[in-house]
Amino acid sequence: MDTSKYQDYVKRAIRMGAKDAKIIPADTIVAAQWVREKCQFGCGGYGKNLTCPPHSPTPEETKRVIGSYRYALLIHGDENTPINKIVVRLERRMFLDGYEKAFGMGAGPCFLCEECTEPCKYPDEARPSMEACGIDVFSTVKAHGFPIEVLKDQNCKPNYYGLVLID
Ligand code: SF4
Repeated sequence: MDTSKYQDYVKRAIRMGAKDAKIIPADTIVAAQWVREKCQFGCGGYGKNLTCPPHSPTPEETKRVIGSYRYALLIHGDENTPINKIVVRLERRMFLDGYEKAFGMGAGPCFLCEECTEPCKYPDEARPSMEACGIDVFSTVKAHGFPIEVLKDQNCKPNYYGLVLID
């Protein structure tokens, strides 16, 4: 695959604070129903945020969306990385560069407002997380050599990921 034309987005992500970023084939992104179950049963954020389930796309919808793309930018960060800001800025950059389908997903719930109320107050900036869209983040990032593990206690270092579907 010739991804050279997307490498500028990798550099931009790193300049904005990502630890690393890679262009990946869209068909290597895994979406699975169990991810939705984990959101619905066990996460206190379920239903409290317009970017989270049940408002966000289901795994089946996400699979169909992924099917209409060839490439994506996968972004790796840690607790100091503004993943969601990077995703939104790069989605916008790609759109202005002529990739009209560019669509970004971040990590975790949206924290832009103290209280999430409909309609969304910042639609330009609010994006669902990968996991809120049913993406199996563990399988997806491991397949591309990125680190991720279950956080067993407060001493574990978290890894965060964002994704921008490009073309
Ligand atoms: S920007 Fe505010 S209203 Fe929109 S999803 Fe985020 S928290 Fe909710």
